[in-house]
Amino acid sequence: MANPLYDALFGRHSGQATVFLQMQDGTALTHGQFLQQAAQYAHVLNSFGLHPGDRVAVQIEKSPQSLAIYAACVQAGLIFLPLNTAYTASELSYFLEDSGARVVICDPKSQETLAPIAQATGAQLETMDAAGEGSFAQKAAAQPMEFATVPREAEDLAAFLYTSGTTGRSKGAMLTQNNLLSNAEVLTRHWAFSATDALLHALPIFHTHGLFVATNIALLSGCKILFVPKFDLEAILALMPQATCMMGVPTFYTRLLDDPRFDRALSQHMRLFISGSAPLLAETHKLFEERSGHRILERYGMTETNMSTSNPYEGERRAGTVGFPLPGIELKITDSTTGETVAQGDIGEIEVRGPNVFKGYWNMPEKTAEELRKDGFFITGDLGMIDADGYVQIVGRNKDLIISGGFNIYPKEIETVLDAQEGVLESAVIGVPHPDFGETVLALLVPAKGVTPDLDAIQSHISEKLARFKLPKKLILLPQLPRNTMGKVQKNALRDQFRDLFT
Ligand code: ATP
Ligand code: MG
Repeated sequence: MANPLYDALFGRHSGQATVFLQMQDGTALTHGQFLQQAAQYAHVLNSFGLHPGDRVAVQIEKSPQSLAIYAACVQAGLIFLPLNTAYTASELSYFLEDSGARVVICDPKSQETLAPIAQATGAQLETMDAAGEGSFAQKAAAQPMEFATVPREAEDLAAFLYTSGTTGRSKGAMLTQNNLLSNAEVLTRHWAFSATDALLHALPIFHTHGLFVATNIALLSGCKILFVPKFDLEAILALMPQATCMMGVPTFYTRLLDDPRFDRALSQHMRLFISGSAPLLAETHKLFEERSGHRILERYGMTETNMSTSNPYEGERRAGTVGFPLPGIELKITDSTTGETVAQGDIGEIEVRGPNVFKGYWNMPEKTAEELRKDGFFITGDLGMIDADGYVQIVGRNKDLIISGGFNIYPKEIETVLDAQEGVLESAVIGVPHPDFGETVLALLVPAKGVTPDLDAIQSHISEKLARFKLPKKLILLPQLPRNTMGKVQKNALRDQFRDLFT
């Protein structure tokens, strides 16, 4: 009896002395050791009387042990449910209630606050700290190092991953074994991963990027992970000469560029830098190539779909685009009212279909029905277009679209013009309520280091480039844009902050 995800990612390495995780202090964990630990954890989970399909929620620091809990859940046929370590107790009560998790593994620091919540939802509460110690590990210590893998089918659920909550309340995306496995297979091939790679891993593992993209690819290809618990510039600079690839959010790359020690010599051993989770500015792409000689490979995905598009590994990596649909994945751009495919080059809703697309939102049948079409296409909520050469460009989120005086205004177009202005590091354009127009355009600008941009000059420059109805009613300087842990700009927070500006 098989468990396709376990067999392909984990089981294949059973007993192997190859390095899986190389830690910053030089110590290493082999695939074999990692699997023994996972087996012990699977026994503990089993001892709680869980059944296949039960949810195991974890909100703990990134550690080798936290990855072993993921492996243990897959092996025991349980649904792995990782949660952002930044969530507060009150946020957590939503996730625990919503998911109906039977077990919650948390940091010892939050044990006291979570105890009443776990009690109310009937979940078993266990602890694990950043070093992998706690009640859960204690229970595991005496367990056997082998566990009889629970059979599962490709269409069985393997994980609940809550969306980042950038546009509203986080939704629990139900992901099957095959959603995860098919994507790991496609990406491993597409990005040419092999057992000789060393992947610099500084992403959080409660999100699809660090967990499913990075970790699953490393497991499938059998490569080594250079394990960095958090983005730490010193650690990244120190480890880069041993690495062959890195995955990061755009802020990783801008932070590297901010340090003169990052250069061609330091990155000469690297074969690939991958970016995603938020838009990479074309400017960052260009500066990165000038400094290091590497062209960052940008890809596009989301919690509900894993990865859907990627720039090519061989061939032109085009800045400002997310490349082509991955093999086996269909992508179309549609009119949001009619659902029909728009003319080539026009902007519309991005829809994707393929083995990567999730089974729906947990406990949200209506939302699922709205976004997941009967024919299998998922309406992503992102707006985009396909250029003449087939490269997909993300224009922004549907919810960020500004409708002013009946006109559709795409923030990205205005942001691109603003970003190119003298003294501007980056910008965010949002719609705020306006008595005459319904909504109007507001631009928030972050100045480049040590510069005070001339707002009047910018206003007059952009009026030559943009139609009148698109021109921001006001430009406001901000020291920085509010971002969540994945580097995503929180436009909701900006809209709230400036809601009353014109009313
Ligand atoms: P929520 O759905 O709860 O509002 P979220 O959409 O931010 O949160 P995620 O699933 O983590 O949650 O993020 C997916 C989104 O990230 C995509 O829909 C897209 O808007 C954005 N994204 C991912 N990769 C890229 C990219 N390369 N360029 C631009 N945007 C990207
Ligand atoms: Mg989303």
